[in-house]
Amino acid sequence: EERLMSGESSIEDQGLEQSIRPADLDHYIGQTEIKENLQIFIQAAKERQEPLDHVLLYGPPGLGKTTLAMIIANEMGAGIRMTSGPALERPGDLAAVLSSLEPGDVLFIDEIHRLSRNVEEVLYPAMEDFCMDIVIGKDETAHSIRLNLPPFTLVGATTRAGYLSPPLRDRFGVVNRLQFYRTDELAQIVRRTAAVLHVAIDQEASFEIARRSRGTPRIANRLLRRIRDFAQVETGGAIACDIARRGLTRLHVDEAGLDRVDHQLLEGMIRKFGGGPVGLDTLAAAIGEERHTIEDVYEPYLMQLGFIQRTPRGRVATSLAYTHLHIAKES
Ligand code: ATP
Repeated sequence: EERLMSGESSIEDQGLEQSIRPADLDHYIGQTEIKENLQIFIQAAKERQEPLDHVLLYGPPGLGKTTLAMIIANEMGAGIRMTSGPALERPGDLAAVLSSLEPGDVLFIDEIHRLSRNVEEVLYPAMEDFCMDIVIGKDETAHSIRLNLPPFTLVGATTRAGYLSPPLRDRFGVVNRLQFYRTDELAQIVRRTAAVLHVAIDQEASFEIARRSRGTPRIANRLLRRIRDFAQVETGGAIACDIARRGLTRLHVDEAGLDRVDHQLLEGMIRKFGGGPVGLDTLAAAIGEERHTIEDVYEPYLMQLGFIQRTPRGRVATSLAYTHLHIAKES
């Protein structure tokens, strides 16, 4: 089942996302520090007529890594090739992509932490010296030849930089961690998307959606689409604050942007494990979720809210979590 409050992309998101992606840095909302640095690096590279250094973008899903990669290409006046770690199964798959690049192109590899070791090894000389070694012939006659590649910029995206092998990580000149968005930034994104969808929304309603979007633009846009349905059917179109609030309640999204899965997770920690510390694997088994889903998708936002803390002995539910769930803390 698709989770409404997950930052991961769903099929339904994809159609809209093509049409609402900002095309340049000026229209990319938030992430101010990353934007300001990129602006400088891009200008400097253009003045030197060189491709931009390789860029690594990491952070939870839905924060705008793909969007930023497309913007980088656009600002550099370059083309973009998009692929992903899982799609590049064998070294030959990557070799094919690399040899099709035009000078200055951006090569975007999503989920770059999922590249296999032998594919990664093709990437090292490509990133460092813009070349690749390919083996020709078999057995005794086998020999490798070195092919030059056009200069290009690799933009890699991953949910966590910690998954990357050190030799790969070290080859990125620019490493950026995307942050959760502030409420006012998300409200701005919501209003921008509403304009694209030709739906009227008032300021207060945009903040109501923003506050419950877990700091994540993809979730904000998804909630907006759902609330638009409520508004259209119940009041004939425009989104006012009370409609937004009612709709979000009906979608089981609480004031802090938590859904039933979060409630289940926190309540599980509190009722089954006395609030913790509880190990990640134990917790995963108890609520029937995968370890990495908890780590990459659920937990970052709950930690951002201060509801969960990571300790050496496991996860702990904080008193903020108890208060939010209206559970009295036994001492
Ligand atoms: P994933 O890695 O899961 O694909 P992502 O981090 O690459 O996620 P994007 O696909 O870039 O996320 O962004 C998700 C949606 O949010 C897009 O529709 C995009 O238009 C919107 N969005 C993301 N960041 C911004 C931003 N800074 N300003 C405006 N819209 C944004």
